[in-house]
Amino acid sequence: MADLAVFAADPARSRGRRVPEPAPEGRTEYQRDRDRIVHSTAFRRLEYKTQVFVNHEGDLFRTRLTHSIEVAQIARSVARNLGLNEDLVEAISLAHDLGHTPFGHAGQEALNDCMRDHGGFEHNLQSLRVVDHLENRYGDFEGLNLTFETREGVLKHCSIRNAQQLGDVGERFLRREQPSLEAQLANIADELAYNNHDVDDGLRSGLLDLEALSEISLFRQHLDEVRARYPLIRDRRQVHETVRRMINVLVVDLTKTSRDRIAAAAPASIEAVRTAPPLVAFSEPMAEAQQELKRFLRVHLYQHYRVARMAAKSKRVVKELFDAFMADRRLLPPEFQQRAARMGARAVADYIAGMTDRYAIREHRRLFAIEDA
Ligand code: MG
Repeated sequence: MADLAVFAADPARSRGRRVPEPAPEGRTEYQRDRDRIVHSTAFRRLEYKTQVFVNHEGDLFRTRLTHSIEVAQIARSVARNLGLNEDLVEAISLAHDLGHTPFGHAGQEALNDCMRDHGGFEHNLQSLRVVDHLENRYGDFEGLNLTFETREGVLKHCSIRNAQQLGDVGERFLRREQPSLEAQLANIADELAYNNHDVDDGLRSGLLDLEALSEISLFRQHLDEVRARYPLIRDRRQVHETVRRMINVLVVDLTKTSRDRIAAAAPASIEAVRTAPPLVAFSEPMAEAQQELKRFLRVHLYQHYRVARMAAKSKRVVKELFDAFMADRRLLPPEFQQRAARMGARAVADYIAGMTDRYAIREHRRLFAIEDA
């Protein structure tokens, strides 16, 4: 790893794990976090969870897993250029979506609705629940027992009410402080990754077309450049050449702007980062260009009638599963029956949130189709 800057997270000075453990051999604390995440069950499930397109709609669309890997790739390259801790940024990136329900945002909205009288459901908070409690693989502790720095990065946002109950990782929301630069970076890399891969997947699916996307300055500028430089290439190659240019200018802008902001604030330690304003950021014009793209995707892709139909179906599946389990806990697998006896609806939400898209569809069939068992 390149030399760490003074404002980077230093694994030797970590605020530690919830259950103290001997220091790892041959790797740092953050590498150990990353390794535990990669070996977790929740991480493997990301392969079969929707990003925008439901898993069975096509083999080439992003899933939560490939999305998380793209986030890690982008975040690591920026981290290396800024002297930040690449291992920590990778651990946060790979863990950031572990708490996502099946069926993407539709699934999360439905589950949040179901949980309205039981404390709600929020995927960020659920990601933290997964790494703190739900992964059960180690003899000495519940969850993955990750370092404070990885856990605070996973908890991107949370309400004041929830922050009050979360202990150490909730404190910064109460004090209105920033997390580490590594956490700030993973958060922005998430947005950068999905804006670009959703353009790619949107075009691949035929729900978006090049002409409509050309309304967006960030896209048009690069598409024009690609067409001028390669007049003969078409379709997927043209799209890829355009999207890769967009990612590149965004990454270059993010790196440069963040470097300047860090230089101006000159934080002498990670503690100084916490009380400074957010330092990892795009320049104003680039932030505006990203917003324009985001608004376009919302209207033309996320609200496209074909996406909306699938979302409506997905919500129905989640709601019907939830209602069935709440009406009769004996329908839950034994482990979750025990948990439901202790914690009620939260155990049902944990069970549903852990499902992959196809597991949820199968489970729904097992409960509602008379000929399936
Ligand atoms: Mg994400």
